[in-house]
Amino acid sequence: MDQPGRGVSQTSSISRRDLFRLTLSGGYGLALGGLLDVRAVRAATGDLKLSNVSEFTTSCNFCSCGCGMIAAVRDGKLLKMEGDYDHIVNRGALCVKGISMFATHASSQRLTKPRYRAPGSDRWQEISWDDAIARVAKKIRETRDQTWMATEMVDAPDLSVDRASGDRLQSAPQFIPLKGGKRAVPVNRTDAIGFMGGAQNTNEECYLFQKAARLLGMSYVEHQARL
Ligand code: SF4
Repeated sequence: MDQPGRGVSQTSSISRRDLFRLTLSGGYGLALGGLLDVRAVRAATGDLKLSNVSEFTTSCNFCSCGCGMIAAVRDGKLLKMEGDYDHIVNRGALCVKGISMFATHASSQRLTKPRYRAPGSDRWQEISWDDAIARVAKKIRETRDQTWMATEMVDAPDLSVDRASGDRLQSAPQFIPLKGGKRAVPVNRTDAIGFMGGAQNTNEECYLFQKAARLLGMSYVEHQARL
């Protein structure tokens, strides 16, 4: 979740929440004028469904549109999710997948612990996060060592760009074939491991993911929404 609390919209338009605040301000005006019993109002609102609730902004995790959502949380428990009316992408709207976000969060079938199925076994067993991380790290190391490609034989390693030509097709970057046949060029990669990102990753997380994936020599870096 990105940002606790909600600030007043910076745009000239009044959002639904701003309107709510203005309405409350009006209520205090009435109270000062003696038209409202503030204690009675407080006592009544204490039982409201969304009283004592904090709101946090987050984004839908299903696809790369990045629709904004608001999560209502009380005592660390997620109560409700809805489209963010102030979000520039979706303006409060959610597609059928986004609307089902809360149901997936609250589902009793949701996995919250890693599971492992041993080779040849027909059942999954729960393992600890430490065990899962150690297993994944070991697999990455083994696979990377077994499939590492330091060089690759290519017959056209160099790109040529002729910007002097006025013809866009003629001057498009082209590989120039080597006259003497193929040559080994350094590539330092493994094609046996891919990296999968998710729609809720922040720009900063994605930057670090890219660094880690490229440092490990992965060339296949993908996004969950494209599957
Ligand atoms: S799945 Fe739907 S709600 Fe979620 S980001 Fe994509 S378009 Fe928006």
